[in-house]
Amino acid sequence: MYVSDILKSKGSAIISLGAGDPVADAVALLAEKRIGAVLVLDGGKVAGILSERDIVRGLNSFGPTFFEKRVSDLMTRDVVTCTPETSVPELMGMMTARRFRHVPVVTDQGLLGIVSIGDVVKTRIEEAEAEVDALRRYIAL
Ligand code: AMP
Repeated sequence: MYVSDILKSKGSAIISLGAGDPVADAVALLAEKRIGAVLVLDGGKVAGILSERDIVRGLNSFGPTFFEKRVSDLMTRDVVTCTPETSVPELMGMMTARRFRHVPVVTDQGLLGIVSIGDVVKTRIEEAEAEVDALRRYIAL
């Protein structure tokens, strides 16, 4: 199972904002779309990622001035990406070792989507259920 399989089922919708946008916009987007992170794009390229963890850290660091900040004040700039050819176990390894739950999918052609730990768990459960079904059918033969 590969990242391309995850993208096939979840699609390639990308929710993003710009580095200069107010943090209030990021908070509203995360809440409205019920997502845990948003990509920060500059000319279609990944310039950063902002997750709910960054919001919590920002609230802790900036306190009452938090809502005066811009996305660029809180985002992570050094974004780790994967490709459609990255295997799901490899992706899980990246997420576990680096302690993040979102990875953008990028090729030479550009940004293709983003996969979250939730997408990975869903894929693994579907895979396990398909295996159980196949084994049950085999035993019933
Ligand atoms: P998350 O677990 O995805 O909510 O993110 C935890 C922390 O890692 C936050 O500071 C994010 O900005 C950062 N982060 C999330 N995804 C990535 C990524 N793909 N590459 C680098 N940093 C990331």
